[in-house]
Amino acid sequence: MQRNFEKIVTVCPYCGSGCQIEFTVDKEANRIIEAKGAPGRTNEGRLCLKGFYGWDYLNDPQILTRRITSPMIRKGGKGSPLEPVSWEEAIQYTAERLQAIIKEYGPDAVMGAGSARGPGNEAGYMTQKFMRAVVGTNNVDHCARICHAASVAGLKQTIGEGAMSLSVPEIEDAEVILNIGYNGATSHPIVARRIVKAKAKGAKIICADPQISETARIADIHLQQKGGTNLLLLNALAYTIVDEGLVDEDFIKNHVNGYEEFAPKLAKYAPEAVASKVGVSAQQIREAARLYASSKHSVILWGMGITQFSQGVDCVAACSNLAMLTGNYGHYATGVGPVRGQNNVQGTCDMGLLPNEYPGYQDVTQADIRKKFETAWGVELSPTVGLKLTQVPEKVLEEADPKKQIHAYYIIGEDPAQSDPHLEELREALQKIDFIIVQDIFMNRTSEYADVILPATAWGEHDAIYTCCDRGFQRVRKVIEPPAGVKTDWEILCLLATAMGYPMHYNNTQEIWDEMRSLAPKFAGATYEKIEALGSVQWPCYEESMDDKGTMYLHKDGQFATADGRGNLVFNEYQPVKEEVDDEYPLSFCTVREVGHYSARTMTGNCRMLRQLEDEPGWIAMNPKDCESLGIEQGDLVRVRSRRGSLITRCLPTERAKEGATYMTYQWWIGACNELTNGVLDPKSKTPEYKYCACRVEKLDNQ
Ligand code: SF4
Repeated sequence: MQRNFEKIVTVCPYCGSGCQIEFTVDKEANRIIEAKGAPGRTNEGRLCLKGFYGWDYLNDPQILTRRITSPMIRKGGKGSPLEPVSWEEAIQYTAERLQAIIKEYGPDAVMGAGSARGPGNEAGYMTQKFMRAVVGTNNVDHCARICHAASVAGLKQTIGEGAMSLSVPEIEDAEVILNIGYNGATSHPIVARRIVKAKAKGAKIICADPQISETARIADIHLQQKGGTNLLLLNALAYTIVDEGLVDEDFIKNHVNGYEEFAPKLAKYAPEAVASKVGVSAQQIREAARLYASSKHSVILWGMGITQFSQGVDCVAACSNLAMLTGNYGHYATGVGPVRGQNNVQGTCDMGLLPNEYPGYQDVTQADIRKKFETAWGVELSPTVGLKLTQVPEKVLEEADPKKQIHAYYIIGEDPAQSDPHLEELREALQKIDFIIVQDIFMNRTSEYADVILPATAWGEHDAIYTCCDRGFQRVRKVIEPPAGVKTDWEILCLLATAMGYPMHYNNTQEIWDEMRSLAPKFAGATYEKIEALGSVQWPCYEESMDDKGTMYLHKDGQFATADGRGNLVFNEYQPVKEEVDDEYPLSFCTVREVGHYSARTMTGNCRMLRQLEDEPGWIAMNPKDCESLGIEQGDLVRVRSRRGSLITRCLPTERAKEGATYMTYQWWIGACNELTNGVLDPKSKTPEYKYCACRVEKLDNQ
């Protein structure tokens, strides 16, 4: 009998590249048959291995038995088992517990963490609306806090808009690419492909990275700096541009504030003065600066190798300074690219899952903006900026006043007990929080601490819009029917809001999207129909008419998104990392990614093919000379210790690692590297210093 196969195009859920996938689906059997690349704006029909193989958790009968398909409650309180209950009971119980906490301690005793992964923009909008309009707090945040919050803050200071200024396709037409703290080959393989294409077209590549990454291998200049020296290096590049007369004076005069005050402050960052600390030669720094300044099509790409430091915001501002000094903003194939990691982390920021901004980056402290949302939502809103995700442990463990503590934590599609730094401290905080709601597709590490579990649909089981790393809205489509018993994230939020006395009802995601558009001018023109017709619409898009197709690159002709339309040069002094190596902990420790897996592996760890490709529970990459001096060989079990914890893993000697440096992925449950990481935060963005702490490695006896 002929089976009825359907083709459905959607967007990959595994990174900000935003690749479009065409699925062949057996609708009768409710099964995906195969995936192939669809010709999307960013991916041109290509996929990486996660796009090809990252969906069988939706199909695999064995894996499906692990899905959560019923709400659960710990009826006997903390320490008692989770028991399946009906949706009615779960919603009523959750609503009553939240209301009791709000009554006793006030709305700011509740924290909400939204998801930058599967749920999508509409669920993101609903999450922040629930926290603001129903709970009554701006305590809402998401995982951008632990990755690119520094990019948003650093770019806002300098150019007024915290997003990638250029588009993914423009990267291949750059003439010079300065790639710093970014290993696209593991984090965004299809964006990395544009770097390779640029190289093939003749672009010059500068790669600043302590590791010999894939980009370093094709670089014309590899600045193999010491870990934690980003700002020294960036200030030295700025110094050289000023010192050697490479500044675009017209651009500065017409479009940038602060040059007269900025330039003299660079005096102590001459390459000759800082090169030994950076770990590269002064000549290399000068050559890199000359190369970067030699083109009006120079692009800077960065990832978490600059943002996950206690000076992440300052480093981002320093990148933006370089682009302003050389006039590399505001035209085709130039600008800056903070390449956002998760598939929808840009979108989750867009939707206002931030403690200081409503959807569309509108300030919660501004009375006229707040009034607009109060009128639309029919409630009075809090004028106080909320708590950031990474402040939860201190608000639980260090705050003495119960009225100022966090007593309830609503966690949607996140696994902080795996992904946050300094896990011992975080676990202590989670144990103390009175009421934790986990809304997810599988049980994860955080579920151990949950009082209520609410089962949600997975990517592939609902409609949505994601925003990819270059501000592109794209339609995400339901591919198969979800298992019985689960609900979409936005439906769960509606049920909960209604049970708490704030009726919310929407018939579909488009109704939510249209409400959001009516309140966020930057996104107002991006209708479902337009996104459907064009495949992708990059914000800002102000008008609904098809004449407004969105915006390929920002800051056209040097018109920045600041109050006076001019960029601001922002100088910051370099400070060392917060935990240096010493005799007791002589090696540096840095978290990295593995190309076959994603985030805390909730999804990719449940994909058979991806597990087969990389199913060793973690490793620590080290330079062979360090291995030799410690008497350890490839595959040996080792204990890795930091001042905060320890773990066991296997040794992977590799020339990629600089001497004295070690690297581990954060994606494994066994030997989770966040047992080691330092929870110290950037004071401006509250992003943790995941990328540098001190450790020691010991060979385990009895191998
Ligand atoms: Fe998916 Fe990213 Fe791979 Fe594209 S590059 S297929 S979006 S994981």
